[in-house]
Amino acid sequence: MISAPADLAYGDSFRFRMVSGGSIRQMSGSPPISDRAVQTTHAVRRPIVVVGGGVIGAACAGALSQVGAPVLLIDKGAFGHGCSYGNCGLVSPSHLLPLSRPGTVWNGLASLFKRNAPLQFRFQTRSQFWAWLWRFARNCNHASMLQAGHARQVLLDQSRVLYEEMFRSGFLEDCDWVPGGTLVVFRSHSAMEEFAETEALLRREFGLEATPLSGEELSQREPALRSGLAGAWEYRCDGHLRPDKLMCAWKKRLLELGVRIREHCELFCLEFSDDEVTSIVTTAGRMEVDQLILCTGAWSQLLRKQLKIRLPVEPGKGYSITLRRPPVTPVSPLIFEEHHVALTPFQEGIRIGSTMEFAGYDKSMRAPRLTLLKEGANAYLRNPVDELSIEEKWYGFRPMSADDVPLIGRVPGLQNVWMAAGHGMLGVSMAPSTAQLLVELLTGTHPHVDPFPYRLERFN
Ligand SMILES: Cc1cc2nc3c(=O)[nH]c(=O)nc-3n(C[C@H](O)[C@H](O)[C@H](O)COP(=O)(O)OP(=O)(O)OC[C@H]3O[C@@H](n4cnc5c(N)ncnc54)[C@H](O)[C@@H]3O)c2cc1C
Repeated sequence: MISAPADLAYGDSFRFRMVSGGSIRQMSGSPPISDRAVQTTHAVRRPIVVVGGGVIGAACAGALSQVGAPVLLIDKGAFGHGCSYGNCGLVSPSHLLPLSRPGTVWNGLASLFKRNAPLQFRFQTRSQFWAWLWRFARNCNHASMLQAGHARQVLLDQSRVLYEEMFRSGFLEDCDWVPGGTLVVFRSHSAMEEFAETEALLRREFGLEATPLSGEELSQREPALRSGLAGAWEYRCDGHLRPDKLMCAWKKRLLELGVRIREHCELFCLEFSDDEVTSIVTTAGRMEVDQLILCTGAWSQLLRKQLKIRLPVEPGKGYSITLRRPPVTPVSPLIFEEHHVALTPFQEGIRIGSTMEFAGYDKSMRAPRLTLLKEGANAYLRNPVDELSIEEKWYGFRPMSADDVPLIGRVPGLQNVWMAAGHGMLGVSMAPSTAQLLVELLTGTHPHVDPFPYRLERFN
């Protein structure tokens, strides 16, 4: 049963006071106040700097503003145009199992010798990738998979509740939010029976409920699908939204909250004094900082040498194709499990997306990967993907941590540097709870979830 933590309410703010060194602590026992004009006992010296304007950075900036902190958000590109732009928009507590599970690493290694597998490792000379792969491989076992699943489930469940609240209260503008569930669809009976084992595990270990649909029931529910499919499992706990609209809604809200957003401003150097970062050097010049929050997604590992920590977060490249709404549009988001392709219906279109490619920061738009998406969807759709109705082809770098659990917390050895990154295939789904946790840790408030599984120390 998912329930909202009692003290989390969008639209509420909290009193806070500054303590020495510029950090913020919530005053114990002070009740939430409904006015967002937060009272401070001391003037804030400098804004908290959030690096990264993806869904994680946006949610962190929003949560910080909610507790009354002044925030400056910088991004090396345009706000909301990293991985958070063209993803499939599933808010998906049902996707709690990590990529690091038994069998994944062997499938990935086999893909070194295949031309176009959905999960593809490509030969690389970067030692960082092989170090990541070694750690990832060590997590591809049943026990680690369950442990990661539980860590992910907490953030997924809490975020699902928080999204509902953010849209209901009007904190965020509507972004095609539909809390209607997803269908995991199967062509063959054997694949559906095989998935029944996963379904049983999800039910047994995580209490996740799913409903089976026969091929006939599926045809009635989803006329856009071809007849003769084996059936589907329905996960009603999931929701979906349009990610680019979500990022627009975040930008509008952040500006209303007084967050300063500085685009095309890249952080490339940190300056230290003892165990603190005193300033950052960016393409727009040097900035002194009191508190620094790194929400740098798949680029986080590039900061590891300066931070002097291990940061096993690799870019996992995925693609999507957005099309105009076809005459017969799927009603629910559909996961074509045998082809590893997802389809999400939006108000003004549909998006098909997926594939996972470990090839560093390769910026090419590879046509065979897009073909894989189209062929995957065509295997299930009554009417094949219409090339003429394609509006956008896109790729993004998922921030894949070596255990597929996000990194949330203070950077080891540094008093005033925090990180929220490594959300892999589920950054949209985990953003609100991640942000809430980060702010609770930063303000010294009792955290709404146990922060232990997400600590950065686990790799150091
Ligand atoms: C095909 C595909 C489908 C997906 N579908 C889903 C889905 O259905 N549901 C779901 O929950 N998730 C999905 N995801 C995953 C999701 O998109 C990511 O987990 C999420 O966007 C990560 O958010 P982020 O804020 O960490 O990273 P990003 O959105 O990439 O943001 C990081 C930002 O940091 C900036 N940055 C980095 N380094 C610096 C620096 N040094 N200085 C300044 N700025 C910097 C970047 O420019 C970028 O804007 C999907 C991903 C892909 C590729």
